[in-house]
Amino acid sequence: MTVINPANEELFEFAVAGQDLPNDEGASTAAPWRVLIIDDDVDVHHATLFALNGLVLFGRPLQFLHAYSSTEAQQKLLGEPELALVLLDVVMETHDAGLLLVDFLRNEAKLYATRVVLRTGQPGHAPEHDTIIQYDINDYKTKSELTQHKLVTTVIAALRAYDQLCVIETGRNGLELIVSCSGGFLNEEDLHIFSGNVITQMAALLRTGAEGLVCAHQNDGLSNFTVMAGAGRFASALNRSLAELDDARIAGLLRCALASGQCHFEGHEAVLYFGQKDGWAMAAYISKKTPLQPMEQRLLSVFGVNLSSALHNHGLMTRLRNDAYVDALLHLPNRTSFVEKLTHTLHTSDASFLLALIDIDDFAEVNDLMGHAYGDKLLQAFARCLMDEFGSDVFLARVSSDSFGLLGSDQCISHQRIKQALEHRVVVAGQPHLVSVTVGLAPKSSGTKTGLDWLKDAGIALKYAKRHHRGRFSTFSDDMASVSRHRTQLLEGLHKAFTDARLFMVYQPQVNLTTGQLIGFESLIRWRTADGRFIPPDQFIPVAEHSGLIVALGDWILQTACRDMRRLKAQGLRGCHMAVNVSVVQFQSDGFLDRVVRTLQEHQLEPRELELEITESVAMLGRDVVEQVLSQLRSLGVAVAIDDFGTGYSSLSYLEQLPVDRIKIDQTFVTKLKAPGGPRIAEMITQLGHKLDLQVLAEGIEDAGAWRALHAMGCDEGQGYFMSRPLDFEALVVWLDQWPTQLEALGVI
Ligand code: C2E
Ligand code: MG
Ligand code: MG
Repeated sequence: MTVINPANEELFEFAVAGQDLPNDEGASTAAPWRVLIIDDDVDVHHATLFALNGLVLFGRPLQFLHAYSSTEAQQKLLGEPELALVLLDVVMETHDAGLLLVDFLRNEAKLYATRVVLRTGQPGHAPEHDTIIQYDINDYKTKSELTQHKLVTTVIAALRAYDQLCVIETGRNGLELIVSCSGGFLNEEDLHIFSGNVITQMAALLRTGAEGLVCAHQNDGLSNFTVMAGAGRFASALNRSLAELDDARIAGLLRCALASGQCHFEGHEAVLYFGQKDGWAMAAYISKKTPLQPMEQRLLSVFGVNLSSALHNHGLMTRLRNDAYVDALLHLPNRTSFVEKLTHTLHTSDASFLLALIDIDDFAEVNDLMGHAYGDKLLQAFARCLMDEFGSDVFLARVSSDSFGLLGSDQCISHQRIKQALEHRVVVAGQPHLVSVTVGLAPKSSGTKTGLDWLKDAGIALKYAKRHHRGRFSTFSDDMASVSRHRTQLLEGLHKAFTDARLFMVYQPQVNLTTGQLIGFESLIRWRTADGRFIPPDQFIPVAEHSGLIVALGDWILQTACRDMRRLKAQGLRGCHMAVNVSVVQFQSDGFLDRVVRTLQEHQLEPRELELEITESVAMLGRDVVEQVLSQLRSLGVAVAIDDFGTGYSSLSYLEQLPVDRIKIDQTFVTKLKAPGGPRIAEMITQLGHKLDLQVLAEGIEDAGAWRALHAMGCDEGQGYFMSRPLDFEALVVWLDQWPTQLEALGVI
């Protein structure tokens, strides 16, 4: 028997020529070496077979193919991708037919690894050295030289070279495959698809059918092994537990790899381990028909390392994605995720969807009062209530600190249902917490192009609801959008006007109705645009209040009014006050009182020379805030007036306790004086003011009749166009000079 030991690759027994040779065990299943004999002499074929038949080299038998002409050889070469060796006659139809065939073999059939041994009858036909190098020819022998022994030696050398070339080629192809599929693994987000690709690529590396399975185990202390992918006979195991696998032996191999963190290769089978220490660990099983070659094992190991880093990156990406798309406190989708969902819905669905933006009223106050830990718990309980009510019918996200986005069909979402979900159901630290929410609703509309625009629409509806009916809801409309756009433009313009010094103050004199003597001025702001238009303050002040700009603007107003008051005093004016309008937001802002005191000092004004006008809405803010600030202002000596009296909803008993000096009758009641029953409210306010020991001043006096009527009912003071329109500083100086003469001419005293 002639056997070459595949392990030490040594020839350990040599055949007796022509003897029939039995195979060893390993050779029975191993793929044979395919050897092509090309010779136009039939005897050469016989002799070669005779010399080599039954030979087993490196564990594999030889298998012979025969061609008797160049044409036949060409056909054979084209259909033989795994041809190990060609024993080739140089001279056939022509003296160089053999060399032409080598050219064909390398350049047409593209057989680069196939070894070529040239044989010739005549020594004179030896190819040039250049040709031997160019065509990668292994050996050149004259036929007479080739004894059986020499032929076997030549074949052994050629097959070893072929095998090594194949190993290199397999390695190169395998590495190329691993590198080229790496990107795909890194980008794959779905672990099932990832696992399926593992089987496909392992099969490609082993050049076998894609039949295998991948199971995963999360290192969470539980022995939970899930089949993530199964191909071929393992397809039915998908998503099942590994314990349910039909083949207990394979299940054992996989479990063993996962426990040891090692790959395992044996015979025809490969178990690949890849994973992370504190994340997902995975094991893949695959088998092939022929035993695994060492190069294949090495490639699989490299592939495993690659997969581990892909899985690590997958973990990283998942974490990054979670950070970017999931709210860390509530584990809900965040704003970014919600906007993406909205965009997706706009582009992919024709159904009627409704977006509800739910804002928790006064959440900041709860946070301040009860602490952030309580606030967090409230948010968690709140989100849970919404999820319990709507479940998987909707997409719920946390859009900002205290607002939630709810997206679902318009059949499913309604303000009523949202209220119902929260009523008496939010329980924090074992106690029910009453929450009030304001909701902005925006139906899906064909005009909306992006998710962000849709969310903005809901935001506009929410703002509208907050302003007009807090604790309830508003549905977005185009009118709302144009109002909102107008407000945004106004605010932008106001910002610019403020920085470009397009704002200025005017002053309207206030007089005693009995003597006509000047008692003070009300400062009023003016905004003149670049093209000379005036924008009335009752349009832009609310916008400034809403944006918070009023705090800075209010400081500037106070500064300017006090500075001009000082200039008036410098001109000899005495015994008058400067009244400055103060808005709610300003009044509530931090350090308001300090700023008032500092401004007075800066402009060397007596506190009694300043009066702050607050509206009834400020007065109604609540005892804690208002009384404290008002009492402090009072104790400083700064006067306080309630503006536009009679237009708000102040409770009289509350008013009685407020430390104020003056009430101002709103001009709407002054305008009505001439109408039948018109003076009634002005009279009532005057009487009330006197009962409360307050000064009463009427606004909007436009003629002598109003002056007289108000004076007759006991109103002490007044302001209005009849005496003077609001004037800029220079005009005011002129007016002050002319007033005594003008007063006489008016004929009211
Ligand atoms: P207000 O504080 O009640 O101011 C009185 C308004 O009545 C002023 O309107 C004034 O020009 C107007 N007025 C005065 N006399 C007459 C009259 O005889 N007939 C008529 N029809 N109107 C008269 P203005 O300046 O347009 O201010 C409107 C509102 O804007 C103010 O009402 C006040 O609430 C707010 N505002 C004006 N300036 C300021 C300011 O500097 N700060 C703050 N926070 N608000 C201001
Ligand atoms: Mg006022
Ligand atoms: Mg007023």
